[in-house]
Amino acid sequence: MKVDDGVYFIQGQDEFIPDSHTYVLGEPGSGEATIIDVGLMGKSQYKLESIEALGFDLKEIKRVLMTHTHLDHIGCLPEILDVLPDLELWVHEAEGRPLEQGDERVVYGMEMFRSMCQSQYGIPDGKFTFQVHRKVTDGESLDLGGASWQVIHIPGHSPGSIALYDAARNILIPGDTVYADYAIGRFDLHGASGAQLRDSLARLAELEVDILLPGHNSIMTNVPKDYINEVARQWGPYLR
Ligand SMILES: [Zn+2]
Ligand SMILES: [Zn+2]
Repeated sequence: MKVDDGVYFIQGQDEFIPDSHTYVLGEPGSGEATIIDVGLMGKSQYKLESIEALGFDLKEIKRVLMTHTHLDHIGCLPEILDVLPDLELWVHEAEGRPLEQGDERVVYGMEMFRSMCQSQYGIPDGKFTFQVHRKVTDGESLDLGGASWQVIHIPGHSPGSIALYDAARNILIPGDTVYADYAIGRFDLHGASGAQLRDSLARLAELEVDILLPGHNSIMTNVPKDYINEVARQWGPYLR
């Protein structure tokens, strides 16, 4: 579904593990598109077919930019790289370095998930080791799909979580940090921090946001004024 010019939404297909939403930044036929998050293991065919159904040629996809590298967001990247081996991978530096070194603790989040997912999906150790082509940092502006997207580092849900913000159209892609329905991301996984999540929500609350495109559940195309501020206020007592 088209959210706005150069912003497309592909809904995650949850199983017993959630599958993240995928966003495509760019216009079909422009020759350049960026995928934000790819999703769970086994979802590459669904995601790539959905991108083609929007009118894109797969060759137009130049890069994958991750809001963060949890398994439900990066799980099908190995499959996608089998089809599109020239894709670049862009990740915040705090998660890019571990990915290159084969440190999969952020990907799985906790030891119990690692053993469960590895046996369920037959995944070997080191499957989620990647070359990271660009490590993005807080404050950068990325020109993606004809718009300028600001990178905001929002640790808390994971150490290298980022939000992407288009200040011209008040569009925010916050990963798993804040959702619709006054929900926020969990903060009990590897490298997570309730106190950092509180500070990150406070930072996002300063932005004018009309369109909120989270990693899961509903998207919001008519965000109430001060919505993130209200979410931060409600969750504040639990975040320390
Ligand atoms: Zn997620
Ligand atoms: Zn996550």
